[in-house]
Amino acid sequence: MRTVKKIKCLSCNAEFVPRTFHEEEILYPNPRRNEILRYKDYFRDNKPFEVIVESWVTYCPSCRNIIKCVKEIAKLEKKYMSNSNKVELLYITKEFDKPCSVYSEYLDDISNELQMQINLYFKEINLNSWFDLYIRNEAQGGFVKDHFKFLVRFIAKVESYHESQFGIEKNKDMPIKINELKLPEELKENLNNLNNIRNDVVHHEYELKENDIEKIHDSYLNFVLYLMEKHITPQINEIRSETGYNFLELNDIKKEVNIYLKKVFYDKFRFDSKLFNKILISLDELFIK
Ligand SMILES: [Zn+2]
Repeated sequence: MRTVKKIKCLSCNAEFVPRTFHEEEILYPNPRRNEILRYKDYFRDNKPFEVIVESWVTYCPSCRNIIKCVKEIAKLEKKYMSNSNKVELLYITKEFDKPCSVYSEYLDDISNELQMQINLYFKEINLNSWFDLYIRNEAQGGFVKDHFKFLVRFIAKVESYHESQFGIEKNKDMPIKINELKLPEELKENLNNLNNIRNDVVHHEYELKENDIEKIHDSYLNFVLYLMEKHITPQINEIRSETGYNFLELNDIKKEVNIYLKKVFYDKFRFDSKLFNKILISLDELFIK
């Protein structure tokens, strides 16, 4: 992560990180021949000691004042020319970097840092095991599509997530555990429904219907997304304030995270276009509000 460096506007005193810099060559009009000249041609006879050749140009986001910083200067130097045995005046140029980093560079920094943190978190919650749960059951290629088995494994996985948060509590019923996870209301309700469906299949010979299967898939997806959102949003705020990158718009950072997560999901779920489309919509809802 780079140290934040801002520019101060001399017109309104605002301090800001520029959105962009463009390079502008200084050109000179020659009224006599109706043409535009570069400095070397313009100052052919009467040579000033120092000439600005090119500028970095940006603008102040508060007052829209145009701000220019030197990019390249040309300085006159005396040179002894051995072939003509004369001393000549030549322009030697010197270039300067842009005065500070621009917005998109800080955004890239924070995006890379977040990706690293997100990957660490994925390892910590063993996200691959959550993905495998679905992929093993749904992927084409010889696996039996056993939706009840998937449901049982999914509820067991939620239970083991509860254990990771609250410790092992064998005598606690599943609805209590679901309640303790403090999930969003709709997700909580759906998980309780699925738990009842599981019990109905086991104890009352209930057969899974098409809309039950849809519900299982949706709740599975929403739970995985919930795990991500719950962890990632505070991370964004933390990194933003720790690094002094507060000037970055929260929505811009979230868009970066959104793109990254879409890539992660694409790698795993592209075989299932129906689920993958739902993932795209849900991620937009979670991270671009
Ligand atoms: Zn200004």
